[in-house]
Amino acid sequence: MLKTVRVMLIPNEKQRTRLFQFSGSARFAYNWALSEEKRNHDKCGKFLNDYELRKRFTLYKQEPNNSWLYTVSNNVCKQAIKDAVKAYENFFEGLAGHPKYKSRKRNPPKFYADPLKIKFTATHVKLENIAQSRKKNRQRANWFRLSEHERIPLGTKYFNPRISFDGINWFLTVGIEVDAQEFTSSNDGIGIDLGVKDLAICSSGHVYKNINKTSRVRRLKKKQRRLQRKISRKYEKNKKGERYEKTRNIVKSEKQLLRITHRLTDIRTNYIQQATTEIVKREPSFIVMEDLNVTGMMKNKHLAKAVQEQKLAEFYRIMSYKCEWHGIRFITVDRFYPSSKLCSVCGHKKQDLKLSERTYHCEHCGTVIDRDMNASINLYQYGQSIINH
Ligand SMILES: [Zn+2]
Repeated sequence: MLKTVRVMLIPNEKQRTRLFQFSGSARFAYNWALSEEKRNHDKCGKFLNDYELRKRFTLYKQEPNNSWLYTVSNNVCKQAIKDAVKAYENFFEGLAGHPKYKSRKRNPPKFYADPLKIKFTATHVKLENIAQSRKKNRQRANWFRLSEHERIPLGTKYFNPRISFDGINWFLTVGIEVDAQEFTSSNDGIGIDLGVKDLAICSSGHVYKNINKTSRVRRLKKKQRRLQRKISRKYEKNKKGERYEKTRNIVKSEKQLLRITHRLTDIRTNYIQQATTEIVKREPSFIVMEDLNVTGMMKNKHLAKAVQEQKLAEFYRIMSYKCEWHGIRFITVDRFYPSSKLCSVCGHKKQDLKLSERTYHCEHCGTVIDRDMNASINLYQYGQSIINH
């Protein structure tokens, strides 16, 4: 099974410049491919496959003004053209909208590296043709420092390595083939109820709180809001007629804002990673979760923000792949299963349960239990019944 690993790169100044050049060329080749397709289609009503397009691109590169395209690795443009063809194919199959040109402003810089030529050591990664000289001491520029050592296993096959820029830092994402673990546990299963008040409530009694309510996150969010207001005020102040001007100060503040936004995302993702790892480490024989109707929840304006901030869909996704890694059976419950309405003790179903009722009172057997705990136990019991069948 394929596992994706993402590591931050630590490029030096020269390498940084080259990374921007590489992603600029990738964008150029992608846009060139789109317009070439369009030209060809207008002329003879046909679409070119990626082999034909690349042949034409080679000719294009040989024209006098286009020799700059030779300064980047051949593979970068090749992959970008493949992407453009893929975008058209998806469009024809009705899977995506019409391919759009990539813009420097809208699309974050990124490019593909050749999976066969990429090399790793415990501390560095080698990308192709970053160095512009064949001399041995210059060839060192091909090696990028990695922020985390020994994160990427050596001597395996690498899939689809991508290098991308998030506005501040460069990252490398690469797919690695790992073996699924054979694992049989005699431990009990766990039902997990995701919520807005707390992030996750486990039937085993563990509760993962909502990290957005901690003072650390709240302070950051406050800072973020202030900076957003400051930036929009500056835009208003520097407005020239109908046009908004971007001053150096605005650029600086926007970068600051991006840093805070990234930090918030990192804190939230990290928390989910830790919570899911902790659950997996308890070695349950199965895990039961509700198939979340996130798009439905996003339509509810009271829930939308909380759902988005808690990254509930992300939790579900990460939980399911970690189960796969560790050989734990992952059971999903249909979203129409009344996990909150049922009594976990006697099975009685309450007809109307308001979202504001935080404790569950059973009219039938008199049980009083926390609402979310009740739901997670129901999920667990559902899983148990499936295992027994
Ligand atoms: Zn009951």
